[in-house]
Amino acid sequence: MRKSVLGLMDTALPVEEQNAIHKALEPYIRDGVQCHALLTRQSGSRRFVSFHVLVPGIWTVQRGHELLENIEADIRRAIPSVTVFTHLESLSDPTSWQDTTLDRG
Ligand SMILES: [Zn+2]
Repeated sequence: MRKSVLGLMDTALPVEEQNAIHKALEPYIRDGVQCHALLTRQSGSRRFVSFHVLVPGIWTVQRGHELLENIEADIRRAIPSVTVFTHLESLSDPTSWQDTTLDRG
């Protein structure tokens, strides 16, 4: 019964897959990058992951984009059938920290 209901509803990813995401992010966080506002969703067999990535504001767009490409690729390797959305933010911009909930003011 539980399984058939889950099959019809969107749910967050199971804990082991959320752990796999955190593990994929670890090396980046060790390098001084920060992540927040992580949301996960499963719809049928398709998985969706979104989060914000905070880097030094002085970084070029090129550098930031390369980082996001690498992070997204690592998560795709860690979890099957996943679509990853990221949002790049500056560590030095206060507004980066005010947008961690679903309903942004
Ligand atoms: Zn943010």
